[in-house]
Amino acid sequence: MNEEFEKVKVLIIGSGPAGYTAAIYTSRADLKPVLYQGLQPGGQLTITTEVENFPGYPNGVGGFEIMEDMRKQAARFGTDIRWGVITSVDFSSRPFKVVADESKTILADTVIICTGASARWLGLKSEHKYRGYGLSACATCDGFFFKGKDVAIVGGGDTAAEEATYLAKLCRKVYLIHRRQEMRASKAMQNKVFCTPNIDKLFGYVPVEITGEKNVEGLIIKNVETGELQNLIIDGLFYAIGHVPNSVIFKGQVDLNENGYIITKPGTTQTSVKGVFAAGDIQDPVFRQATTAAGTGCMAAIEAERFLSSEY
Ligand code: NDP
Repeated sequence: MNEEFEKVKVLIIGSGPAGYTAAIYTSRADLKPVLYQGLQPGGQLTITTEVENFPGYPNGVGGFEIMEDMRKQAARFGTDIRWGVITSVDFSSRPFKVVADESKTILADTVIICTGASARWLGLKSEHKYRGYGLSACATCDGFFFKGKDVAIVGGGDTAAEEATYLAKLCRKVYLIHRRQEMRASKAMQNKVFCTPNIDKLFGYVPVEITGEKNVEGLIIKNVETGELQNLIIDGLFYAIGHVPNSVIFKGQVDLNENGYIITKPGTTQTSVKGVFAAGDIQDPVFRQATTAAGTGCMAAIEAERFLSSEY
């Protein structure tokens, strides 16, 4: 049987700030990109209430609203935006073979991967209720809303250390809750935490449940050794327990680092496969901002365009 495959010049996987920015640039360059939105159309920002640090919005903007604006901007220049999930890829030869929803095969001259990363959550029963109502997985994004208040942050890595120090500048008191007695953060970051007087270190504790009428008002924590419970009165709770890059389908196709992030050549969005580019959080465990994701989405689009004009 002679199977008919759809052929595209640019396939963009993912619909966060990186994906839509890559789409805006490649569609304006008349490359007729096809973009698959993935499991969470709009990406991580759609679960944030307000975004105040994306340039161009002097009064802030809702997370869902800004992603809807980006989607419309990409659509305006002709991006073919589709519901659906890319379920497998084969980058072993060109054109690259990509399967959507386990059924439709697309042949692509270039692929821009923008599948992002997902914050790890603890899985407490009450988590769903408080997300966006005092519970956040990004202190840089949401810390500002807790100016002068008491907050807690969970984790013992570099992110927890960095974000605890950041929060301490804004908030009255920061409880740093970590399940072990030693932090895994680098010594330099730990020193910052230990030298900041309004960070109260609660090591050897785990969160048990969040409390509060509508917004976060408290956190019950348990001493790992004694089992003793304690109720912290707080206005905000932050998780910094790591992110999981959404890279499962790319394993064995492009080079990943030990944590599963796609490795790009420094200063570029080029992956280990010529013609496959990666932008946004999928290749960035450090900055993880909507603005940096949009920036690398732009870089990937320009690099894809140059690749196409040199190779085809
Ligand atoms: P990490 O994986 O390094 O740390 C996660 C932390 O969360 C660990 O302390 C871990 O505890 C804790 N944790 C994980 N799961 C749970 C759970 N279920 N319950 C309670 N605690 C939990 O993630 P980071 O985001 O901190 O860092 C990711 C990478 O990015 C690292 O390589 C880091 O060095 C890098 N990074 C670098 C920065 C910089 O250089 N400025 C800034 C931020 C990140 P435990 O220690 O017990 O396992």
